[in-house]
Amino acid sequence: MDDQTTRWDDDEPHEECGIFGVYGHPRAAEVTFLGLYALQHRGQESSGMVVSDGEVFRTHRAMGLVAEAYENGDRIHSLNGHIAIGHNRYSTTGSSNAANAQPFKINYKRGLLAAAHNGNLINTGTLREFMEETGAIFHSTSDTEIVIHLVARSEGESVPEMIADALRRVEGAYSFLFLTEKQLIAVRDPRGFRPLAVGKSGNTYFVASETCAFDIMDAEYLRDVAPGEMLVIDENGLHSFYPFEPARPSFCIFEHIYFARPDSKVFGENADKLRRRFGRRLAIEYPIEADIVIAVPDSANTAALGYSEQSGIPFEIGLIRNHYVGRTFIDPSQTMREFKVKVKYNPVRGVLKDQRVVLVEDSIVRGTTLKQLVRLIRNAGARAVHVRVSSPPVRHPCYYGIDMQTRRELIAARSDDDHIAEIRDFIGADTLGYLSTDGMLRIAHDYSAPDAGFCTACFSGEYPVQPSEQVNKLLLETKFIG
Ligand code: SF4
Repeated sequence: MDDQTTRWDDDEPHEECGIFGVYGHPRAAEVTFLGLYALQHRGQESSGMVVSDGEVFRTHRAMGLVAEAYENGDRIHSLNGHIAIGHNRYSTTGSSNAANAQPFKINYKRGLLAAAHNGNLINTGTLREFMEETGAIFHSTSDTEIVIHLVARSEGESVPEMIADALRRVEGAYSFLFLTEKQLIAVRDPRGFRPLAVGKSGNTYFVASETCAFDIMDAEYLRDVAPGEMLVIDENGLHSFYPFEPARPSFCIFEHIYFARPDSKVFGENADKLRRRFGRRLAIEYPIEADIVIAVPDSANTAALGYSEQSGIPFEIGLIRNHYVGRTFIDPSQTMREFKVKVKYNPVRGVLKDQRVVLVEDSIVRGTTLKQLVRLIRNAGARAVHVRVSSPPVRHPCYYGIDMQTRRELIAARSDDDHIAEIRDFIGADTLGYLSTDGMLRIAHDYSAPDAGFCTACFSGEYPVQPSEQVNKLLLETKFIG
């Protein structure tokens, strides 16, 4: 990325990828294109797909949104085949280039293999060093390429065994889709950090990060790929394996707070339902006398509705979001810094004038956008602005696939109550209230399967897998194949 440009959304946490797979559809490329369109919110920097007709792979990968990457669909007509995997990528700064666009593919001793990954592996630095020393040549800086090399080096007897062998050597968060000439293979890590669901329509199977990708195909949601499960889909149907040591589930609770589309089911439950409950709970924990509730659109809409329902304060559309801004923005001069936020959000003056406003946001990362929004709302005539956040303070970075800045850049990195007052003053709100971790977890458990467990590391600092420990474990215990 050019030095003069920044992301429009650089004050929000970012999902790093969305994945989609289809087995048994005569126009697998077109279906994958539509599935990736539905998953656009999970990655906007590049998109790609690999399609198999049973013998040959056909591939397209390009930078840009799905519509741009496939030139509004023109680039998929030559991608013949009935099995496909696709990937939308969001990248962290410095790795935004076409070489990192997924899926990756190789031609190795067993034939052809492609892989698409959502998540982040935390021991790949050591693995990469070892593999480079033993002859591997990498074309990208992506984790996924390391895994595909590990699969190729495995001496397992079948491709699913080789994949399991490779994934036993990595630690962290992964939902993977693999494609061979004749199989679609889906794998979720034993803690199940990132979501992955299976759907079906007639004899066609779908696998996707979120179920909104099934709805576009009128496919039925069958179930989630379970933590630690490998699903192999081939001409004989769907086969389930559990090739890894079980671990305590650590589903990313941020999927429910912000990342997943509200119309998706993630971790077996509707994101809208939990998000609305978070808003209701927030109204119980931080009530306030006010005239209207508004959301920072679009991601906080559902939580704001919940706050409104619980408090009895009417919900209004007080901010309009411009959906047509590009992914990057040329930084304006110092004096025009507010311009960036103003192009993205516009206050509805007729709604806000003379009102005491509750402004609901789903999370605060750096707080700079929220500060400008509060000022816009006041300038539109609001008498008071009370900010309510439908998640706890984000105090720690994420190692499991979410680009959450460094700890230094997180406005809530300090954990004392005085600091919450400082944040309130920084954003210019009259009052500020965050949902408690306890309240958030109570709702998440109430609306999830009894065996569900959640990762809350970015709030609590309690990491389900510590990167340093895992690197040590790898150095001490792992014997490499090949
Ligand atoms: S640290 Fe936060 S964002 Fe990362 S997986 Fe855990 S809950 Fe999700």
